[in-house]
Amino acid sequence: MLRFPDYVQVLVTGGAGFLGSHLCDRLIGDGVAVICLDNFYTGTRRNVAHLLDNPMFELVRHDVTFPIYLEVNQIYNLACAASPIHYQFDPVQTTKSSVHGAINMLGLAKRTRARILQASTSEVYGDPDMHPQAESYWGRVNPIGPRACYDEGKRCAETLFFDYYRQHHVLIKVARIFNTYGPRMHPNDGRVVSNFIRQALENEPITLFGDGSQTRSFCYVTDLIEGLVRLMATPDEVTGPVNLGNPGEFTVRELAEKVIALTGSRSRIESLPLPADDPRQRKPDIDLARKTLDWEPKVALDEGLRRTIEYFDRLLAAGWKSG
Ligand code: NAD
Ligand code: UDP
Ligand code: UDP
Repeated sequence: MLRFPDYVQVLVTGGAGFLGSHLCDRLIGDGVAVICLDNFYTGTRRNVAHLLDNPMFELVRHDVTFPIYLEVNQIYNLACAASPIHYQFDPVQTTKSSVHGAINMLGLAKRTRARILQASTSEVYGDPDMHPQAESYWGRVNPIGPRACYDEGKRCAETLFFDYYRQHHVLIKVARIFNTYGPRMHPNDGRVVSNFIRQALENEPITLFGDGSQTRSFCYVTDLIEGLVRLMATPDEVTGPVNLGNPGEFTVRELAEKVIALTGSRSRIESLPLPADDPRQRKPDIDLARKTLDWEPKVALDEGLRRTIEYFDRLLAAGWKSG
């Protein structure tokens, strides 16, 4: 590969997933060459089909738990199933994707001297006893529960990032992403926004877990992608971790009511048991992102939900069926 001084070759692992495909769109739009790497476990070629003819875009089927040798200057490491039903389906693979995946991608970054950004998660805070959650909080995670494969896998990945930084001087960036939603979420991934919208559009019962008083903060996908790109562009000494999310806090019951109102649905709310270790409350403290990245979310929940509802409406009209 000829290397020109201004040539940027970016690797996006998990690039055919929900967030990864939006990141690929953004980078291609910025005129950057992108290698999108994915094993299609929860992602799909459909999410990036519109990019396949672009000479700046390359799609590679590969599992990050195995080594790979590529020449790149930047790596966004997003490969890991993110929804509880998907990451709990094969929990050993989930931990491997985070831990072996981090080792391989950090090894690649070390060899190529690439900058590497880790898509970490608010789940590193577990069921928090600090509210809102700041980066200085160490978390409250059950290491042996059903969510541990994801939470502890992501925590170990952060450890590896900081050890490669200290030991091998790899240029790292760690983003702790809070619940993000938008078009291209998998309609069957069981996450609360996609579930409620699909159920409302199909006039099925809205499945509310527990009494619905648990809270989440929902960030629209374009806001989150802007935060990731800004973090990657920070000076070398900025490592994070940096929280990225929308600090607006809503109970899950409020979300159900909003979705019913915005879709004009006839769905009723059905109460189901709360899953094990379900965090009671979650809201990012984004002061650090504001200061370091001059970033904050712009899209309000109602507007983001409208755009996401439009997407799911088209998907269902085109014949997508659950089950
Ligand atoms: P997603 O499931 O849509 O995307 C994950 C992608 O990674 C999929 O395309 C999947 O096929 C791929 N993948 C999984 N294991 C892989 C492996 N071993 N090798 C190669 N590819 C693999 O989920 P998403 O919401 O787009 O999440 C992307 C990243 O952001 C994940 O790392 C997730 O943990 C993180 N994150 C997301 C959220 C959110 O709310 N969406 C919140 C916090 C963190
Ligand atoms: N690795 C990779 N691509 C590379 C360089 C390394 O997949 O371009 C993998 C390699 O297989 C190794 C891991 O990354 O297992 C960690 O690499 P590192 O150099 O840190 O460790 P070592 O090779 O000494 O085990
Ligand atoms: N939830 C719900 N009904 C659903 C799916 C999720 O009430 O059909 C709740 C879930 O118990 C949790 C919140 O919504 O309290 C967010 O769940 P999600 O799986 O989207 O993300 P996470 O728990 O990882 O934040």
